[in-house]
Amino acid sequence: MSHIFPRHTKQLPPVAVRGEGCYLYDDHDKQYLDASGGAAVSCLGHGDQTIINAVKAQLDKLAYAHTGFFTSEPAETLADLLIEHAPGNLDRVYLVSGGSEAMEAALKLARQYFVEKGEPKRGRLIARKQSYHGNTMGALSAGGNAWRRAQFGPLLIDMSHIDPCYEYRLKREDETPEAYGLRAANLLEEELLRVGPENVMAFAAEPVVGATVGALAPAPGYFKRIREICDQYGILLILDEVMCGMGRTGSLFACEQDGVAPDILCIAKGLGAGYQPIGAMLCSREIYETIEKGSGFFQHGHTYLGHPTAAAAGVAVVNAMLDRKLIPRVKTQGDKLMAALHAQFGQHSNVGDIRGRGLFQGIELVADRDTKAPFDPSRKIAPKIKQAAFDAGMICYPMSGTIDGQTGDHVLLAPPFIISDAQIDELVQKLAGAIDKAL
Ligand code: PLP
Repeated sequence: MSHIFPRHTKQLPPVAVRGEGCYLYDDHDKQYLDASGGAAVSCLGHGDQTIINAVKAQLDKLAYAHTGFFTSEPAETLADLLIEHAPGNLDRVYLVSGGSEAMEAALKLARQYFVEKGEPKRGRLIARKQSYHGNTMGALSAGGNAWRRAQFGPLLIDMSHIDPCYEYRLKREDETPEAYGLRAANLLEEELLRVGPENVMAFAAEPVVGATVGALAPAPGYFKRIREICDQYGILLILDEVMCGMGRTGSLFACEQDGVAPDILCIAKGLGAGYQPIGAMLCSREIYETIEKGSGFFQHGHTYLGHPTAAAAGVAVVNAMLDRKLIPRVKTQGDKLMAALHAQFGQHSNVGDIRGRGLFQGIELVADRDTKAPFDPSRKIAPKIKQAAFDAGMICYPMSGTIDGQTGDHVLLAPPFIISDAQIDELVQKLAGAIDKAL
């Protein structure tokens, strides 16, 4: 009998025993194409000896040293490497163990920044509906995914949630994408004025939304206008690139493609590529200096901050991406995947939207293409696709996002950057079979 507490207690998962390239294998040697990198984690694929060797070498030198006493070589190197390539005036790196931790740190840093700056009224966060920022209480409060929040209401912090930038559902027919992007961004200003800008500390968003509605990229100009509003009202811009960052969309940081730089940026997942649990919060020089010149102490922290072995994995992963020119590859393979999805599903009567950037793509399933009506939630289309794909030997990330109180079905694809043309074909064929079966 297993003593593991699994995610799904009614259906125990198979035992994964090894991984090679784009494939995972279970204890019956069944092969699974990893079409979602787990949850957009395994960007380099599995069994990458360069990363494994870097982790081993670090373990031989120093596994762990507490950041209350020490910094370490790999943590310093990783911080330098990230800042060398980071947008805007991001200047400092706070290394944590994952995405939720990075977001918690971001929220507390934003709050402490304003306290130390002498603006203690600023404590409110504005975020977006249909977003996901993690499962810990602060991050869950920031997230706008009704299903994930539902039963934890009494534990959540009061925050604002504006509509996301969701062209497929929210753009009016008479609007250009640019006009819609502007209108969607201006919702931030409306909410600021409603709650009083002097009470707001930050706006948080995923540049490309991942775990709620599947690879939803913003309309043109959306984030530029968001940045302007943040600056006008003196609030911080927190970008959550936990899923869409680290090369996933075809640039090291997703926001580069929108021509904006945040005050605080969160990354995780692809940073360790699954070889170690690691995340990071990057912040601007101005924020860091406010704390440095003020109390000199960020009132936050976890035991595994700046973990040397995890940081060594991060250094090896970033170097591998750069040395092997994997980020341009994300663009070319991403274009091929997008073309293959359009060829397969472009006319499909239940595929409403195919979208994304780089190797971060999603499809939205609908009961009716003309009205965009989602399937009745009782049909459980997304979980059925997941199961059918899994049975056929493929891991993808179907999800039931919430659209105006209704549940919609989406599939997120985030394969390793090393995916070959033949594997793209395999992915699309397996996905088509799984969708047919689920419908
Ligand atoms: N932020 C985003 C955008 C995510 O997609 C996720 C996880 O899916 C998180 C935060 C939370 O990251 P973690 O699961 O590593 O805590």
